[in-house]
Amino acid sequence: MKALSIKGLRKVYKGGFEALKGIDLDVEEGDFFALLGPNGAGKSTTIGIVSSLVNKTAGSVTVFDYDLDKQLVELKKQIGLVPQEFNFNQFETVTQIVVNQAGYYGVPRKLAHERAEKYLKQLGLWDKRNERARSLSGGMKRRLMIARALLHEPRLLILDEPTAGVDIELRRSMWDYLEKINKQGITIILTTHYLEEAESLCRKIAIIDSGEIIENTSMKRLLATL
Ligand code: ADP
Ligand code: ADP
Repeated sequence: MKALSIKGLRKVYKGGFEALKGIDLDVEEGDFFALLGPNGAGKSTTIGIVSSLVNKTAGSVTVFDYDLDKQLVELKKQIGLVPQEFNFNQFETVTQIVVNQAGYYGVPRKLAHERAEKYLKQLGLWDKRNERARSLSGGMKRRLMIARALLHEPRLLILDEPTAGVDIELRRSMWDYLEKINKQGITIILTTHYLEEAESLCRKIAIIDSGEIIENTSMKRLLATL
């Protein structure tokens, strides 16, 4: 089954800039997939469209066979998004930020608290559960966004530059964590502009440049051509 299927996806921003020039992309269920490309290539635009934060100009997107145009509510339930920017309320506590997510997905309150405990413990944030988010370090904020994204137990986790601004040691533990949940069955797509990050984590890779997919292969094959 395909976790994500993109066909002929175009994006022209207001003002006329064409950020995506009709891309095709398939991600299989269970993949650990990297979308690699330089700044400005179109990575955030792509995942913005998939997670319905950005309107597309043309093309089609399905997530586990749910069509973005026709089955948006179901499609959204399949996806957990970890955006690049810290977009939570810095004055809320760690627990509040994670549990509040439940409302958007119809997760019952009690279950939300149980899951929040589970994911905050797994991500090493349980001790911080009653602290306001603004007191956390950058790496902790990043992990908080992962816990929040997992609350409705999505089948596809999408992370935009997940280790930007995270130090080496934390980066490793975050990578280990992502590998662990991928083995448990969650499909993962991450964007990065570091080949090194993609290389150490991802089995499949697509390279995007100036709004076009210029390579789409397994990591093994890509490394063999370098
Ligand atoms: P990446 O995530 O690979 O760095 P983006 O998808 O953020 O790339 O951006 C792709 C291109 O689209 C860039 O040239 C960027 O400047 C442009 N762009 C992004 N957002 C907007 C916007 N809201 N309006 C106009 N142009 C935009
Ligand atoms: P630490 O205590 O781990 O150094 P900081 O809060 O100083 O944490 O931030 C670490 C990194 O996170 C920085 O390199 C910065 O670029 C990034 N960062 C901090 N705040 C934001 C934000 N609001 N949005 C995106 N990145 C941020």
